[in-house]
Amino acid sequence: MTPLLELSEVTAGYGSAPVVEDITLAVEPGQVCALVGANGAGKSTLLGTISGLRHPSRGRITFDGADLGHAAPETVVRRGLVHVAEGRRIFRGLTVRENLDLGLWRSGLGKPEQRDRLDRVLGLFPFLRARLSAQAEVLSGGEQQMLVIGQALMREPRMLLLDEPSLGLAPVMVDRVFDTIEVLRAEGLSLLLVEQVVERALSIADRGFVMQNGRIVAEGPGPDLLRGPGLRQAYLGAF
Ligand code: ATP
Repeated sequence: MTPLLELSEVTAGYGSAPVVEDITLAVEPGQVCALVGANGAGKSTLLGTISGLRHPSRGRITFDGADLGHAAPETVVRRGLVHVAEGRRIFRGLTVRENLDLGLWRSGLGKPEQRDRLDRVLGLFPFLRARLSAQAEVLSGGEQQMLVIGQALMREPRMLLLDEPSLGLAPVMVDRVFDTIEVLRAEGLSLLLVEQVVERALSIADRGFVMQNGRIVAEGPGPDLLRGPGLRQAYLGAF
């Protein structure tokens, strides 16, 4: 199958020092892939490089067959690749509805299509329907995470880059995040997931990539990686 997202020998960083080096990976349509590795391995930097927040100094990134080159983040989003950054960046003082509507910013859609998109997202997250007029800040951490993902879905992406969606959540909410990932998979969305809950992430991943010091040191079907030595070495090697 032709990959939806493909990175070939990508090197990137901040200023002249590379933080991620020589990254080659592919995500096929409909796949859930997990990117794991110790703190500081370069996972967030890699997601930001894919979504156009920074540009590779070497290598090539293609999405849906087209070279992303040095595309700006808005262009990457318009092509259907949406990055949900770490840290649940909702507007706490706005309502749930207003936060979702922000996902339509510059979409150019008419009112009926906007309504359709909202209905589709509320179909995936029914609990948000009753909370549309509530301030986003009254939602629990897990619900805020669903709201951020819902806002990303308002753009009707083909692929999501999810950076640590379960960070800081109570175990029951971590379960809900992983349930949501399964719902998105069933919808046919492709996902590249960065997670510290490594076991959970790899156990559901069609493919996993283990990063250490800016490089991919092991890859394979997620459950296989969990059983292999590469994962353990990558984490122990960080200390
Ligand atoms: P974590 O799980 O802690 O978020 P990570 O694997 O996502 O880690 P990155 O956040 O990508 O790792 O960081 C990789 C390296 O890049 C670290 O050494 C970090 O200090 C450095 N770095 C991150 N952001 C910047 C920045 N804006 N400017 C300069 N260096 C940065």
